[in-house]
Amino acid sequence: MEINGKTRLCGLIGNPVEHTLSPLIHNTLAEKLGHNLVYLPFPVEEKHLEDAVAGAFGLNVLGLNVTVPYKSAVMPYLTEIDKLADEIGAVNTLVRSEEGYTGFNTDMPGLFRAMQSDGVKIDGESVIILGAGGAARAVAFLCASKGAKEIFLLNRSIEKANEVAAEVNALYGDKVCAMELNRFRELPKWRYLAIQCTSVGLYPNADAAVIEDEAFYEMIHTGYDLIYRPEETRFMKLVKKAGGAAYNGLKMLLYQGIIAYELWNGVAVSEEAASEILDLLKEKVSVS
Ligand code: NAP
Repeated sequence: MEINGKTRLCGLIGNPVEHTLSPLIHNTLAEKLGHNLVYLPFPVEEKHLEDAVAGAFGLNVLGLNVTVPYKSAVMPYLTEIDKLADEIGAVNTLVRSEEGYTGFNTDMPGLFRAMQSDGVKIDGESVIILGAGGAARAVAFLCASKGAKEIFLLNRSIEKANEVAAEVNALYGDKVCAMELNRFRELPKWRYLAIQCTSVGLYPNADAAVIEDEAFYEMIHTGYDLIYRPEETRFMKLVKKAGGAAYNGLKMLLYQGIIAYELWNGVAVSEEAASEILDLLKEKVSVS
């Protein structure tokens, strides 16, 4: 692609950003769709976050993704916040308007699109969410808003689980039951969709799962791990060993990026283009 006087810039702010796969998603999309656009990662120190957002606006940057640890911290510096992002309390995409940036959350719709593409449904399901951090919180809102029958939110520290449950329940009724992680044996003996939202099992600690007991996995018909490095996590292996279906978080990453790209450029990305980019992502993850 030729960079010229009309090239638009998008990027990622966070810390660290060195291992991000987002440039691969967005620069490939720009090339495929013939958009004159470049996407770059920007490592930003916390003390410079406000300046980074103001500076990006001053430089006519079209849009930004926001990653750890700024998904909530960036919110005071935005001129508007989309309803869904406001509910979740986290923003991962900034879209330029005339006055500043509007904050969106594409992680949650990204996971939903990933699940739809894998044929995994939430509606009517009994769901176990492992974790109560930023990702788990978004997933709890997703499951409640998409008609899960009941949600058990299991976390190492019960205080955080209680907080997330209270926030979701305030909007959706008594859907979420918070539990301490090590009390999983008290779960009603149904078959569950389990969504793994802790950081346990993330590369390089790939031989760990947040629950090791095989009895837990007997209850899981489908396991979705938000982690995608390694490609097959220990959680996924344990789900499969017990006879369930298991998926990693690579498609979630793909679709959160695609939805951001669609917001910035006012286009719809085809499933054909999405699957070509997924292949590139898989290649990259398997090599690293
Ligand atoms: P976070 O806010 O830091 O939350 C981490 C969670 O992991 C907390 O619930 C924490 O429990 C739990 N945890 C950490 N170490 C643990 C241990 N040794 N034993 C038990 N629980 C432990 O992180 P996050 O932003 O929610 O991200 C969570 C994971 O999702 C990360 O691996 C991230 O890579 C992945 N993710 C993937 C995507 C994607 O696009 N695929 C998007 C977002 C996030 P405590 O509360 O007890 O500390």
